[in-house]
Amino acid sequence: MAQATADQLGFADLDLEPEILRALSELGYEEPTPIQAEAIPNLLAGRDLLGQAATGTGKTAAFALPIIQRIPRGGRGTDPAALVLVPTRELAMQVSEAVHRYGAELGVRVLPVYGGQPIGHQLRALGRGVDVVVATPGRALDHIARGTLRLDALQTVVLDEADEMLDMGFSEDIDSILENAPAERQTVLFSATMPSRIDALARRHLSDPVRVRIEREEPPPGEAPRVREGAYMVTRAQKAAALGRVLDVEAPEAAIVFCRTREQVDQLSETLNGRGYRAEALHGGLSQEQRDRVMGRLRSGTAELLVATDVAARGLDVEHLTHVVNYDVPSAPESYVHRIGRVGRAGREGVAITLAEPREHRMLKAIERATRRKIPLEKVPTVADLRTRRLELTRASLEESLIEGADLDRFRVVVESLAEEYDLFDVALAAVKLVHEAGGTAYDEEDIPDARIPDRDRSQREPGQDRGPRKRRETGRPGAGPGAGTTRLFVGAGRGSGIRPQDLVGAIAGESGLSGRDIGAIEIADRFSLVEVPTDAAEDVIRALRGATIKGRRLNIRLDRDR
Ligand code: AMP
Repeated sequence: MAQATADQLGFADLDLEPEILRALSELGYEEPTPIQAEAIPNLLAGRDLLGQAATGTGKTAAFALPIIQRIPRGGRGTDPAALVLVPTRELAMQVSEAVHRYGAELGVRVLPVYGGQPIGHQLRALGRGVDVVVATPGRALDHIARGTLRLDALQTVVLDEADEMLDMGFSEDIDSILENAPAERQTVLFSATMPSRIDALARRHLSDPVRVRIEREEPPPGEAPRVREGAYMVTRAQKAAALGRVLDVEAPEAAIVFCRTREQVDQLSETLNGRGYRAEALHGGLSQEQRDRVMGRLRSGTAELLVATDVAARGLDVEHLTHVVNYDVPSAPESYVHRIGRVGRAGREGVAITLAEPREHRMLKAIERATRRKIPLEKVPTVADLRTRRLELTRASLEESLIEGADLDRFRVVVESLAEEYDLFDVALAAVKLVHEAGGTAYDEEDIPDARIPDRDRSQREPGQDRGPRKRRETGRPGAGPGAGTTRLFVGAGRGSGIRPQDLVGAIAGESGLSGRDIGAIEIADRFSLVEVPTDAAEDVIRALRGATIKGRRLNIRLDRDR
């Protein structure tokens, strides 16, 4: 149902203003996700909304775009028109960044407000006036009590990841905040799960809400595709490298790699080409003629990988497609089913691979529930796995050429003359070595760790799925398992300052004496980064790095606390 709507509607059909449409087009969003297609018109019409949606569905834009559009233009007051409540500081920052990006052209003023940050900065910013406040409930209440966050002008309140907020004990804070908000406001609640406590919360604070949920879509019985499915949990920073590893082991004949945006399509196909794959980009920005050329290259085997957005790949039928790769977890189970339906046809086995970031694991679970199939979490191939696999491939191609037999005679003279001087077996070894080295794709010599699902989500996982995260800690530090034994540090500089994972590893290893292998998952956001280090070394790392510089910037580093 939701899928049908999404298929028909483009962003332009949603009555969004030109400034917002331009921002979306610049971000490379080609069409609304199902939750956006359903939510945006209702929210623009002023309805309350109860949405079941996890991270990865596009829910942030689903509530942020209507908020931005509904902010009164001209003669703005100092009090916010919208308040978004979120469970953690990370989400507060992420949502603020999203609102800022979508509303940049309209000059929307947004402020993240969370505990752990000096309150002075927040006081000054609130005093200057903001349109949208994105806050953790505790800190929001502090500001309300101080009179620095006034709710009188609120048009919309969003409860984002409401189930998480209840799990973290924010229920009473949320109640008090909403009791202070104007009665005629619009209230929006998003939650990944809908336990009865969420229903009760919705009954207390929402009035006649539209309910939005991505409907389950089950494949007709007997038509389940013969597809081997698997997922890899990796951090964003490691994704391209992990994809390379997986492709090397899988050695697809022809594969489609799905990305969310045009920019990702362009970037990833460039990266893959740089790593020696023959990848072609396919997205909505190409003319029909360019599209035909790309498809021709894939059909003829000149290209082996097609990197595409959903829209661009629509209607595309490649006969010999062996693999579908989701570079991100798709934004709805329907989209997953649709994508992987492109392989496993006509009795052939197909492979569907999904790269998931830790924060997307709930979406993966939603897909498992909808398809009623488990998607096993695989371990990213190690350097040793790759070597083994490459040897297998070399062996297979030698065997193929022996079976074909043709055209070998002209090399006889080489072998015969070498055999006079050397052992025939050694001659064969040297020849295999040359073939092997000529055929391989270059790969990095470092193993890529599997990423860890955030601690606060761990209780939701099933025991069989613990494989990846535990394995990644096999770094010669006994007892340094995930959760226990590691601590996350917040570094106040991110992609915007040109920070890359290797810079952080370099600085930490250089200043603190930890080795690169002790450093765990690294996440780089626009304005900050998060790094995992062994708990017993955390204080030392902070001390060592205070005063250090990366890219000429002094580092602001501290323990990462959500509140
Ligand atoms: P969310 O579920 O809100 O956390 O969004 C997940 C990711 O999807 C974010 O990186 C967004 O930038 C991206 N995204 C949201 N809407 C769209 C869209 N319509 N097309 C492509 N990407 C999107």
